[in-house]
Amino acid sequence: MATSSKEWQKLRTEDREVVERYLNEVPVKLGALAAALGVDVKISSLPLNISGQISKTPAGYEIKINRHESRQRQRFTLAHELAHFLIHRDTIDRLGGTLTDNVLYRSGASEQIEFEANRLAAQIVMPEEALRQEYSKYGDQISEAMVDLLAEHFGVSKAAMEIRMAA
Ligand SMILES: [Zn+2]
Repeated sequence: MATSSKEWQKLRTEDREVVERYLNEVPVKLGALAAALGVDVKISSLPLNISGQISKTPAGYEIKINRHESRQRQRFTLAHELAHFLIHRDTIDRLGGTLTDNVLYRSGASEQIEFEANRLAAQIVMPEEALRQEYSKYGDQISEAMVDLLAEHFGVSKAAMEIRMAA
């Protein structure tokens, strides 16, 4: 099931095909997705105010995720950095080969770039079709308990789920 957002359209066809293969199973296996895209992921000791980083290396691209943040947060950060890989490779190059995201997902790239990365990340960790299927189990009633269950099901924070549901 294709996602039709603006960010989604920016993916290269070959990358989009890889990503789509991983969106049918929830929680989305982000580590396996990164590997399939040829991106190395390292869980690292980064400074406290840094959530993640993506760098161009001689071999390709490498993502570092701050090991000191919660598991759900690490998942979203990985999706955010993968989004930069998927649609912002030119920006990474332009900024000298490294993008470092602080805890607010600000990196020195433009706000627009960070907005796109957050939107695409949300679509990857909370895929539209899977979300729709979960919604249908609960009917129209959106409750606090439902948000909790959905967040747990997708392996994201409650805040991330609330933002996704409002989108
Ligand atoms: Zn970013």
